[in-house]
Amino acid sequence: MNSEGIPIDVQARCVFCLDNNNFRDEQILFRGSTSYLVAPLGQLVEGYLAIAPYACGNSLSQLPPAAFPEIARLQKMVEDFYRVEYASADSTFYEQGRAGGGALYDQTDGFPYHAHLCGLAVTCDMHEILGQTFRRLDLNELADLPSAVGVQPYLYVKTGNGHCVYVGDSESARQALEHSRLTPQIAEHLGIEDRGSWRDYPGERELENLLILFRQYQKRSTGSGARPHST
Ligand SMILES: [Zn+2]
Repeated sequence: MNSEGIPIDVQARCVFCLDNNNFRDEQILFRGSTSYLVAPLGQLVEGYLAIAPYACGNSLSQLPPAAFPEIARLQKMVEDFYRVEYASADSTFYEQGRAGGGALYDQTDGFPYHAHLCGLAVTCDMHEILGQTFRRLDLNELADLPSAVGVQPYLYVKTGNGHCVYVGDSESARQALEHSRLTPQIAEHLGIEDRGSWRDYPGERELENLLILFRQYQKRSTGSGARPHST
């Protein structure tokens, strides 16, 4: 077990633990003080990005309040990038808070829950996917997540309509959230079912395009637009 209580062999399979060297240096687009921005494989649509805290075995709802301003700045940076480079005025962000109820890792597939906020440069009606099964709570901002959900698994979503979180009203719904796989559902909703698993569709070509676009964007922004501001 490591210090968080995750078996060492499970920890070694975590994609988002930087010590495991799953990402090339150039995939890490920004390193903040507690979180980083990465362009991972699994480009179901070109432009897929993730914002992750460095720490493993958690969900965003378990982070201290001090972690949220940086994540919000990175989210804004990604939104600006999507708007400029992908002409996407209405992007989609989501986090599967599977660890929100205290679970540390997936017992079936043996990977740790490592919080990551996913960004897509497309509009996706997440309410259509989730609204039937789960209860929606609207949030003013991402930092409201811990107080809104408490200790339970959840799905956080930000679209043009604002921030919200989906929670379960019953033990079975909470179990479903803890074990849910959202990406295949998003892929199906977007009509690209064959891209629902990053192992089946890593999207290497899309990733290389994304890295080129991001570098160009940073260069053009000359140190302002492509960096999260501290104020
Ligand atoms: Zn991890």
